[in-house]
Amino acid sequence: NSDLILHVNFVLVNMESKQRYIVKDILGHGTFGQVAKCWVSETNSYVAVKIIKNEPAYYQQALVEVSMLHMLNQKFDPDDKHHIVRILDYFVYQRHLCIAFEMLGSNLYELIKMNNYKGLSLNIVQMFSKQILHALIVMKDAGIIHCDLKPENILISTRVKPPEIKIIDFGSACMEGRTIYSYIQSRYYRSPEVLLGYPYTTAIDMWSFGCIVAELFLGLPLFPGASEYDLLKRMIEILGGQPPDDLLRDAKNTSKFFKHIGSIYRLEDDEAHNGVTSAYRVLTEEEYEARESKRPKMGKRYFNFVKLEDIIANYPYRKNLPEEEISKENLTRLALVDFLRGLVEFDPGKRWSPLQASHHPFVTGEPFTCPYKPLLETPRIPVIHTVTVDHNPGGGHWL
Ligand code: ADP
Ligand code: MG
Repeated sequence: NSDLILHVNFVLVNMESKQRYIVKDILGHGTFGQVAKCWVSETNSYVAVKIIKNEPAYYQQALVEVSMLHMLNQKFDPDDKHHIVRILDYFVYQRHLCIAFEMLGSNLYELIKMNNYKGLSLNIVQMFSKQILHALIVMKDAGIIHCDLKPENILISTRVKPPEIKIIDFGSACMEGRTIYSYIQSRYYRSPEVLLGYPYTTAIDMWSFGCIVAELFLGLPLFPGASEYDLLKRMIEILGGQPPDDLLRDAKNTSKFFKHIGSIYRLEDDEAHNGVTSAYRVLTEEEYEARESKRPKMGKRYFNFVKLEDIIANYPYRKNLPEEEISKENLTRLALVDFLRGLVEFDPGKRWSPLQASHHPFVTGEPFTCPYKPLLETPRIPVIHTVTVDHNPGGGHWL
Protein backbone atom coordinates (compact mmCIF):
# COMPACT_ATOMS: atom_id res chain seq x y z
CA ASN A 1 0.00 0.00 0.00
CA SER A 2 1.37 3.37 -1.00
CA ASP A 3 -0.73 5.44 1.39
CA LEU A 4 0.88 7.04 4.39
CA ILE A 5 -0.45 5.35 7.53
CA LEU A 6 -2.12 8.05 9.57
CA HIS A 7 -3.51 8.13 13.09
CA VAL A 8 -4.95 10.83 15.29
CA ASN A 9 -2.26 13.34 16.25
CA PHE A 10 0.07 12.13 13.50
CA VAL A 11 2.12 15.19 12.57
CA LEU A 12 2.80 16.18 8.97
CA VAL A 13 5.65 18.65 8.69
CA ASN A 14 6.72 21.04 5.99
CA MET A 15 10.46 20.58 6.59
CA GLU A 16 11.36 23.88 4.98
CA SER A 17 9.00 26.23 6.82
CA LYS A 18 8.73 23.92 9.87
CA GLN A 19 4.96 24.32 9.65
CA ARG A 20 3.24 21.44 11.49
CA TYR A 21 -0.12 19.90 10.59
CA ILE A 22 -1.67 17.70 13.28
CA VAL A 23 -3.99 15.04 11.86
CA LYS A 24 -7.37 14.96 13.62
CA ASP A 25 -9.62 13.10 11.21
CA ILE A 26 -9.81 11.57 7.73
CA LEU A 27 -12.12 13.43 5.34
CA GLY A 28 -11.86 11.18 2.33
CA HIS A 29 -9.86 8.56 0.43
CA GLY A 30 -9.46 8.05 -3.25
CA THR A 31 -7.19 6.50 -5.81
CA PHE A 32 -4.84 9.51 -5.35
CA GLY A 33 -4.41 9.04 -1.58
CA GLN A 34 -6.24 10.52 1.39
CA VAL A 35 -7.50 13.85 2.69
CA ALA A 36 -6.96 14.61 6.39
CA LYS A 37 -8.47 17.27 8.61
CA CYS A 38 -5.48 18.85 10.33
CA TRP A 39 -5.04 21.30 13.16
CA VAL A 40 -2.67 24.25 12.79
CA SER A 41 -1.92 25.69 16.23
CA GLU A 42 -0.27 28.91 14.99
CA THR A 43 -3.49 30.03 13.32
CA ASN A 44 -5.88 28.18 15.64
CA SER A 45 -7.63 26.63 12.69
CA TYR A 46 -8.19 23.49 10.69
CA VAL A 47 -6.97 22.88 7.17
CA ALA A 48 -7.61 20.00 4.77
CA VAL A 49 -4.42 18.24 3.69
CA LYS A 50 -4.44 16.02 0.61
CA ILE A 51 -1.75 13.39 1.05
CA ILE A 52 -0.81 11.88 -2.29
CA LYS A 53 0.35 8.26 -2.66
CA ASN A 54 4.09 7.97 -3.12
CA GLU A 55 3.82 6.87 -6.74
CA PRO A 56 5.23 8.94 -9.61
CA ALA A 57 2.02 9.19 -11.67
CA TYR A 58 -0.02 10.52 -8.75
CA TYR A 59 2.79 12.82 -7.73
CA GLN A 60 2.95 14.38 -11.21
CA GLN A 61 -0.82 14.74 -11.43
CA ALA A 62 -0.93 16.39 -8.01
CA LEU A 63 1.68 18.92 -9.17
CA VAL A 64 -0.70 19.83 -11.98
CA GLU A 65 -3.36 20.50 -9.35
CA VAL A 66 -0.92 22.67 -7.40
CA SER A 67 0.08 24.73 -10.43
CA MET A 68 -3.50 25.23 -11.69
CA LEU A 69 -4.74 26.33 -8.28
CA HIS A 70 -1.72 28.50 -7.66
CA MET A 71 -2.36 30.33 -10.93
CA LEU A 72 -6.11 30.67 -10.30
CA ASN A 73 -5.66 31.85 -6.71
CA GLN A 74 -2.78 34.25 -7.23
CA LYS A 75 -3.31 35.68 -10.69
CA PHE A 76 -7.02 35.49 -11.27
CA ASP A 77 -8.63 35.61 -7.86
CA PRO A 78 -6.25 37.29 -5.40
CA ASP A 79 -9.13 38.50 -3.21
CA ASP A 80 -10.85 35.12 -2.96
CA LYS A 81 -14.08 36.30 -4.55
CA HIS A 82 -14.59 33.64 -7.19
CA HIS A 83 -15.56 30.51 -5.28
CA ILE A 84 -12.45 28.50 -5.96
CA VAL A 85 -10.78 26.62 -3.11
CA ARG A 86 -7.64 28.27 -1.69
CA ILE A 87 -4.40 26.35 -1.69
CA LEU A 88 -2.37 27.22 1.40
CA ASP A 89 0.81 25.19 1.21
CA TYR A 90 2.45 22.18 -0.39
CA PHE A 91 5.41 20.08 0.61
CA VAL A 92 6.83 16.57 0.56
CA TYR A 93 6.63 14.54 3.74
CA GLN A 94 8.11 11.02 3.85
CA ARG A 95 8.03 10.87 0.04
CA HIS A 96 4.37 11.89 -0.08
CA LEU A 97 3.31 15.14 -1.73
CA CYS A 98 1.00 16.96 0.67
CA ILE A 99 -1.26 19.83 -0.38
CA ALA A 100 -2.92 21.99 2.28
CA PHE A 101 -6.26 23.59 1.39
CA GLU A 102 -8.63 25.81 3.31
CA MET A 103 -11.03 23.62 5.29
CA LEU A 104 -14.47 23.30 3.73
CA GLY A 105 -17.62 21.36 4.63
CA SER A 106 -20.01 18.93 2.91
CA ASN A 107 -20.18 18.56 -0.84
CA LEU A 108 -23.31 19.22 -2.92
CA TYR A 109 -24.00 15.51 -3.44
CA GLU A 110 -24.11 15.06 0.33
CA LEU A 111 -26.44 18.06 0.57
CA ILE A 112 -28.80 16.56 -2.04
CA LYS A 113 -28.67 13.24 -0.19
CA MET A 114 -29.39 14.85 3.18
CA ASN A 115 -32.44 16.31 1.48
CA ASN A 116 -33.54 12.77 0.49
CA TYR A 117 -32.93 13.42 -3.21
CA LYS A 118 -35.88 15.80 -3.32
CA GLY A 119 -33.97 18.71 -4.77
CA LEU A 120 -33.27 22.17 -3.44
CA SER A 121 -35.42 25.30 -3.61
CA LEU A 122 -35.04 27.49 -6.69
CA ASN A 123 -33.60 30.29 -4.54
CA ILE A 124 -30.76 28.06 -3.47
CA VAL A 125 -30.26 26.66 -6.97
CA GLN A 126 -30.04 30.22 -8.27
CA MET A 127 -27.57 31.28 -5.57
CA PHE A 128 -25.29 28.28 -6.15
CA SER A 129 -25.50 28.70 -9.95
CA LYS A 130 -24.33 32.28 -9.66
CA GLN A 131 -21.39 31.27 -7.50
CA ILE A 132 -20.32 28.40 -9.76
CA LEU A 133 -20.47 30.78 -12.74
CA HIS A 134 -18.12 33.16 -10.92
CA ALA A 135 -15.60 30.34 -10.76
CA LEU A 136 -16.18 29.30 -14.38
CA ILE A 137 -15.67 32.86 -15.65
CA VAL A 138 -12.28 33.03 -13.98
CA MET A 139 -11.34 29.53 -15.14
CA LYS A 140 -12.18 30.41 -18.75
CA ASP A 141 -10.11 33.61 -18.50
CA ALA A 142 -7.23 31.51 -17.23
CA GLY A 143 -7.78 28.98 -20.03
CA ILE A 144 -8.29 26.19 -17.50
CA ILE A 145 -10.71 23.32 -18.08
CA HIS A 146 -11.70 21.63 -14.82
CA CYS A 147 -12.64 18.34 -16.55
CA ASP A 148 -14.39 16.83 -13.51
CA LEU A 149 -17.11 19.23 -12.46
CA LYS A 150 -19.79 17.38 -10.46
CA PRO A 151 -21.68 17.85 -7.17
CA GLU A 152 -18.99 15.89 -5.25
CA ASN A 153 -16.38 18.45 -6.27
CA ILE A 154 -18.33 21.47 -5.04
CA LEU A 155 -17.99 22.02 -1.31
CA ILE A 156 -19.95 24.20 1.07
CA SER A 157 -17.96 26.61 3.17
CA THR A 158 -19.03 26.44 6.78
CA ARG A 159 -17.68 29.80 7.78
CA VAL A 160 -20.11 32.17 6.16
CA LYS A 161 -23.80 32.90 5.93
CA PRO A 162 -25.54 32.82 3.50
CA PRO A 163 -23.75 29.63 2.50
CA GLU A 164 -20.88 29.90 0.07
CA ILE A 165 -19.68 27.12 -2.16
CA LYS A 166 -16.27 26.49 -3.63
CA ILE A 167 -14.99 24.41 -6.52
CA ILE A 168 -12.34 21.84 -5.52
CA ASP A 169 -10.39 19.01 -7.12
CA PHE A 170 -8.32 20.41 -9.97
CA GLY A 171 -6.56 17.05 -10.18
CA SER A 172 -7.97 16.38 -13.67
CA ALA A 173 -7.73 19.95 -14.93
CA CYS A 174 -5.88 20.92 -18.08
CA MET A 175 -5.10 24.00 -20.16
CA GLU A 176 -7.28 24.82 -23.13
CA GLY A 177 -5.37 24.02 -26.31
CA ARG A 178 -3.27 21.45 -24.46
CA THR A 179 -5.85 18.76 -24.07
CA ILE A 180 -4.09 15.43 -23.81
CA TYR A 181 -6.62 13.00 -22.40
CA SER A 182 -9.76 11.83 -24.15
CA TYR A 183 -11.26 9.82 -21.28
CA ILE A 184 -12.30 12.60 -18.93
CA GLN A 185 -15.29 13.85 -16.91
CA SER A 186 -17.47 11.67 -14.66
CA ARG A 187 -20.00 9.87 -16.82
CA TYR A 188 -23.24 11.57 -15.78
CA TYR A 189 -21.61 14.96 -16.35
CA ARG A 190 -19.72 14.01 -19.53
CA SER A 191 -20.24 16.33 -22.49
CA PRO A 192 -21.27 15.07 -25.94
CA GLU A 193 -17.99 16.19 -27.51
CA VAL A 194 -15.91 14.22 -24.99
CA LEU A 195 -18.22 11.22 -25.35
CA LEU A 196 -17.92 11.31 -29.13
CA GLY A 197 -14.20 12.08 -29.22
CA TYR A 198 -14.20 15.60 -30.63
CA PRO A 199 -11.72 18.39 -29.75
CA TYR A 200 -12.87 19.97 -26.52
CA THR A 201 -12.66 23.36 -24.78
CA THR A 202 -13.83 25.05 -21.58
CA ALA A 203 -17.35 24.50 -22.97
CA ILE A 204 -17.25 20.94 -21.54
CA ASP A 205 -17.38 22.44 -18.03
CA MET A 206 -20.50 24.39 -19.07
CA TRP A 207 -22.21 21.13 -20.04
CA SER A 208 -21.34 19.62 -16.65
CA PHE A 209 -22.55 22.81 -14.99
CA GLY A 210 -25.93 22.47 -16.74
CA CYS A 211 -26.23 18.87 -15.52
CA ILE A 212 -25.40 20.02 -11.97
CA VAL A 213 -27.98 22.84 -11.99
CA ALA A 214 -30.68 20.40 -13.14
CA GLU A 215 -29.66 17.89 -10.48
CA LEU A 216 -29.71 20.50 -7.71
CA PHE A 217 -33.34 21.24 -8.62
CA LEU A 218 -34.46 17.66 -9.32
CA GLY A 219 -32.43 15.95 -6.61
CA LEU A 220 -31.47 13.27 -9.12
CA PRO A 221 -29.01 13.33 -11.99
CA LEU A 222 -30.46 14.46 -15.33
CA PHE A 223 -28.47 11.97 -17.43
CA PRO A 224 -27.58 9.03 -15.20
CA GLY A 225 -26.11 6.98 -18.02
CA ALA A 226 -25.38 3.36 -17.12
CA SER A 227 -22.96 3.27 -20.07
CA GLU A 228 -21.80 5.80 -22.64
CA TYR A 229 -24.44 4.57 -25.07
CA ASP A 230 -27.12 4.83 -22.40
CA LEU A 231 -25.89 8.33 -21.59
CA LEU A 232 -26.16 9.45 -25.21
CA LYS A 233 -29.60 7.89 -25.55
CA ARG A 234 -30.85 9.77 -22.51
CA MET A 235 -29.45 13.07 -23.82
CA ILE A 236 -31.20 12.56 -27.16
CA GLU A 237 -34.50 11.63 -25.50
CA ILE A 238 -34.56 14.36 -22.88
CA LEU A 239 -33.23 17.17 -25.08
CA GLY A 240 -34.79 16.10 -28.37
CA GLY A 241 -32.55 16.26 -31.44
CA GLN A 242 -28.99 14.97 -31.51
CA PRO A 243 -25.44 16.31 -31.82
CA PRO A 244 -24.96 18.41 -34.99
CA ASP A 245 -23.89 16.61 -38.16
CA ASP A 246 -20.50 18.32 -38.46
CA LEU A 247 -19.62 17.18 -34.94
CA LEU A 248 -20.75 13.63 -35.75
CA ARG A 249 -18.81 13.72 -39.02
CA ASP A 250 -15.53 14.79 -37.41
CA ALA A 251 -15.69 13.01 -34.04
CA LYS A 252 -13.55 9.88 -33.56
CA ASN A 253 -16.12 7.69 -31.80
CA THR A 254 -19.27 8.44 -33.80
CA SER A 255 -19.36 4.94 -35.32
CA LYS A 256 -19.48 3.43 -31.80
CA PHE A 257 -22.96 4.85 -31.37
CA PHE A 258 -24.38 5.95 -34.72
CA LYS A 259 -25.24 4.32 -38.03
CA HIS A 260 -24.45 6.47 -41.03
CA ILE A 261 -27.24 5.92 -43.54
CA GLY A 262 -26.94 8.08 -46.63
CA SER A 263 -26.34 11.52 -45.21
CA ILE A 264 -28.18 10.76 -41.97
CA TYR A 265 -26.72 9.75 -38.62
CA ARG A 266 -29.01 7.53 -36.56
CA LEU A 267 -28.36 6.29 -33.06
CA GLU A 268 -27.92 2.51 -33.09
CA ASP A 269 -30.55 0.29 -31.51
CA ASP A 270 -30.35 -0.89 -27.94
CA GLU A 271 -29.68 -4.48 -29.02
CA ALA A 272 -26.29 -3.49 -30.35
CA HIS A 273 -25.40 -2.24 -26.88
CA ASN A 274 -25.60 -5.10 -24.43
CA GLY A 275 -29.33 -4.90 -24.19
CA VAL A 276 -29.27 -1.66 -22.22
CA THR A 277 -32.89 -0.95 -22.94
CA SER A 278 -34.03 1.27 -20.15
CA ALA A 279 -33.55 4.92 -20.80
CA TYR A 280 -34.12 5.38 -17.12
CA ARG A 281 -31.39 4.51 -14.72
CA VAL A 282 -31.90 1.84 -12.12
CA LEU A 283 -31.13 3.53 -8.83
CA THR A 284 -28.57 2.07 -6.48
CA GLU A 285 -30.25 0.31 -3.60
CA GLU A 286 -29.32 3.03 -1.17
CA GLU A 287 -30.65 5.80 -3.40
CA TYR A 288 -33.79 3.82 -4.11
CA GLU A 289 -34.56 3.26 -0.44
CA ALA A 290 -33.93 6.87 0.48
CA ARG A 291 -36.18 7.98 -2.29
CA GLU A 292 -38.98 5.45 -2.00
CA SER A 293 -39.34 5.98 1.71
CA LYS A 294 -40.05 9.65 1.10
CA ARG A 295 -41.79 9.72 -2.23
CA PRO A 296 -44.72 8.14 -4.01
CA LYS A 297 -43.84 5.29 -6.36
CA MET A 298 -43.10 6.42 -9.87
CA GLY A 299 -42.91 3.03 -11.51
CA LYS A 300 -39.67 2.22 -13.26
CA ARG A 301 -39.16 5.65 -14.61
CA TYR A 302 -36.74 8.03 -13.12
CA PHE A 303 -38.84 11.07 -13.90
CA ASN A 304 -42.50 11.06 -14.88
CA PHE A 305 -41.78 12.80 -18.17
CA VAL A 306 -39.30 12.48 -20.99
CA LYS A 307 -38.73 16.01 -22.29
CA LEU A 308 -36.68 18.49 -20.30
CA GLU A 309 -39.49 21.09 -20.36
CA ASP A 310 -42.00 18.58 -18.97
CA ILE A 311 -39.64 17.15 -16.37
CA ILE A 312 -39.03 20.62 -14.91
CA ALA A 313 -42.58 21.98 -15.26
CA ASN A 314 -44.25 18.92 -13.70
CA TYR A 315 -41.77 18.28 -10.94
CA PRO A 316 -43.66 18.03 -7.63
CA TYR A 317 -43.75 21.28 -5.69
CA ARG A 318 -41.92 21.36 -2.41
CA LYS A 319 -44.23 20.63 0.53
CA ASN A 320 -43.71 23.97 2.22
CA LEU A 321 -44.33 26.08 -0.89
CA PRO A 322 -47.11 28.60 -0.05
CA GLU A 323 -50.09 28.73 -2.42
CA GLU A 324 -49.45 32.37 -3.35
CA GLU A 325 -45.89 31.52 -4.44
CA ILE A 326 -46.95 29.00 -7.08
CA SER A 327 -47.24 31.35 -10.05
CA LYS A 328 -43.83 32.83 -9.24
CA GLU A 329 -42.39 29.32 -8.90
CA ASN A 330 -43.82 28.36 -12.31
CA LEU A 331 -42.28 31.41 -13.95
CA THR A 332 -38.90 30.71 -12.36
CA ARG A 333 -39.13 27.13 -13.63
CA LEU A 334 -39.63 28.49 -17.16
CA ALA A 335 -36.52 30.62 -16.66
CA LEU A 336 -34.68 27.53 -15.39
CA VAL A 337 -35.58 25.50 -18.50
CA ASP A 338 -34.46 28.36 -20.75
CA PHE A 339 -31.21 28.57 -18.75
CA LEU A 340 -30.58 24.82 -18.97
CA ARG A 341 -31.21 24.84 -22.72
CA GLY A 342 -28.24 27.18 -23.22
CA LEU A 343 -26.00 24.90 -21.14
CA VAL A 344 -26.95 21.35 -22.07
CA GLU A 345 -26.68 22.33 -25.72
CA PHE A 346 -25.28 19.59 -27.98
CA ASP A 347 -23.28 22.03 -30.11
CA PRO A 348 -20.25 23.23 -28.12
CA GLY A 349 -20.02 26.26 -30.43
CA LYS A 350 -23.55 27.36 -29.53
CA ARG A 351 -23.36 26.48 -25.83
CA TRP A 352 -23.25 29.63 -23.69
CA SER A 353 -20.02 30.79 -22.16
CA PRO A 354 -19.96 31.39 -18.39
CA LEU A 355 -20.17 35.16 -18.94
CA GLN A 356 -23.17 34.81 -21.26
CA ALA A 357 -24.89 32.47 -18.82
CA SER A 358 -24.23 34.85 -15.92
CA HIS A 359 -26.54 37.47 -17.50
CA HIS A 360 -29.47 35.07 -17.80
CA PRO A 361 -32.60 36.15 -15.84
CA PHE A 362 -32.50 32.88 -13.89
CA VAL A 363 -29.16 34.02 -12.47
CA THR A 364 -29.72 37.77 -12.22
CA GLY A 365 -33.23 37.39 -10.79
CA GLU A 366 -34.74 39.74 -13.38
CA PRO A 367 -38.27 38.80 -14.45
CA PHE A 368 -38.24 36.17 -17.17
CA THR A 369 -40.32 37.24 -20.16
CA CYS A 370 -38.91 35.64 -23.29
CA PRO A 371 -36.15 33.26 -24.36
CA TYR A 372 -32.76 34.71 -23.52
CA LYS A 373 -30.49 35.75 -26.38
CA PRO A 374 -26.95 36.20 -25.11
CA LEU A 375 -24.79 38.99 -26.48
CA LEU A 376 -21.98 37.85 -28.70
CA GLU A 377 -18.73 37.78 -26.86
CA THR A 378 -15.74 39.61 -28.24
CA PRO A 379 -13.17 36.94 -28.90
CA ARG A 380 -10.51 36.91 -26.25
CA ILE A 381 -6.91 37.15 -27.29
CA PRO A 382 -5.44 34.15 -25.55
CA VAL A 383 -2.74 34.90 -23.05
CA ILE A 384 -0.63 31.96 -22.12
CA HIS A 385 0.11 32.12 -18.44
CA THR A 386 2.93 30.05 -17.23
CA VAL A 387 3.36 29.09 -13.66
CA THR A 388 6.53 27.62 -12.38
CA VAL A 389 6.09 25.02 -9.76
CA ASP A 390 9.04 23.59 -7.96
CA HIS A 391 8.94 19.95 -9.01
CA ASN A 392 10.85 18.92 -5.95
CA PRO A 393 9.21 21.04 -3.32
CA GLY A 394 10.78 21.13 0.06
CA GLY A 395 8.15 23.44 1.32
CA GLY A 396 5.50 25.72 0.02
CA HIS A 397 5.91 29.37 0.60
CA TRP A 398 2.64 31.11 0.91
CA LEU A 399 0.90 29.94 4.06
P1 ADP B 1 -10.43 13.14 -5.68
O1 ADP B 1 -9.47 13.28 -6.78
O2 ADP B 1 -10.31 11.84 -4.95
O3 ADP B 1 -11.84 13.35 -6.06
P2 ADP B 1 -10.70 15.54 -4.04
O4 ADP B 1 -9.80 16.71 -4.15
O5 ADP B 1 -12.05 15.69 -4.65
O6 ADP B 1 -9.97 14.27 -4.62
O7 ADP B 1 -10.84 15.19 -2.50
C1 ADP B 1 -11.47 14.00 -2.05
C2 ADP B 1 -12.45 14.30 -0.93
O8 ADP B 1 -11.78 14.89 0.19
C3 ADP B 1 -13.52 15.29 -1.30
O9 ADP B 1 -14.62 14.69 -1.96
C4 ADP B 1 -13.90 15.87 0.06
O10 ADP B 1 -14.78 15.01 0.74
C5 ADP B 1 -12.58 15.88 0.80
N1 ADP B 1 -11.97 17.20 0.64
C6 ADP B 1 -11.15 17.61 -0.35
N2 ADP B 1 -10.77 18.90 -0.18
C7 ADP B 1 -11.37 19.32 0.94
C8 ADP B 1 -11.40 20.59 1.66
N3 ADP B 1 -10.72 21.65 1.22
N4 ADP B 1 -12.14 20.65 2.78
C9 ADP B 1 -12.83 19.59 3.22
N5 ADP B 1 -12.86 18.39 2.60
C10 ADP B 1 -12.14 18.24 1.47
MG1 MG C 1 -13.11 14.79 -6.21
